[in-house]
Amino acid sequence: MSRTVVVLGGGISGLAACYHLIRAPRPPKVVLIEASQRLGGWIRSVQREDGAVFELGPRGIRPAGELGARTLLMVMLGGSWLQALEDGEQTLAQELFQQAAQEAVATQLGLRKPPSQSLVSLHKSCIPQYTLGHWQRLEAAAQFLANHQLPLTLAGASYEGVSVNDCIESGRRAATHVLRNLDL
Ligand SMILES: Cc1cc2nc3c(=O)[nH]c(=O)nc-3n(C[C@H](O)[C@H](O)[C@H](O)COP(=O)(O)OP(=O)(O)OC[C@H]3O[C@@H](n4cnc5c(N)ncnc54)[C@H](O)[C@@H]3O)c2cc1C
Repeated sequence: MSRTVVVLGGGISGLAACYHLIRAPRPPKVVLIEASQRLGGWIRSVQREDGAVFELGPRGIRPAGELGARTLLMVMLGGSWLQALEDGEQTLAQELFQQAAQEAVATQLGLRKPPSQSLVSLHKSCIPQYTLGHWQRLEAAAQFLANHQLPLTLAGASYEGVSVNDCIESGRRAATHVLRNLDL
């Protein structure tokens, strides 16, 4: 009997899960459901008309050599600094972020020339923050799913690591788990 596995979310975790599911010796039918218009989730590059490429999520791998020397530099700002601004009800203007990024680059990397191109993008709550007790909650959820034999497997940045590598591995582990449960 053919089995169907539904993968919810086409970010890197869901895509990794799909990849491993369809490569199984006896692959199930895989249905990927993605809420947005594109795949990739937080992994997203945008290119302006003038050719400049910006990463809105993790940095892409840039070529070495002359082209690499013109690599775009990403500055991530956030944490308590942003929280303090928000608490002070300050307007979160693009110029404010750009200035803070340039100051950080000047102080930490010694790069004082302003960038020829820049893009400021505000993503709130874009990287999951694991709070105290995260692993116990995760363990309890896994136990609950197992005890009730629920056909649900969790994967993605919210659970066992936020890096792209973690997410790919989490998708792979989820696929392995599903295939084992389906005896495929
Ligand atoms: C600004 C930024 C910079 C980063 N930099 C790095 C870096 O340099 N190196 C690194 O290793 N990691 C980095 N990360 C972390 C890493 O990119 C993310 O943790 C990872 O891409 C998350 O992948 P994901 O598939 O788990 O989740 P997501 O990318 O969030 O994908 C989830 C997908 O599910 C979809 N979805 C949500 N709800 C539903 C629903 N109900 N139905 C259907 N679809 C749904 C969403 O539309 C989305 O496409 C960065 C993250 C950010 C935001």
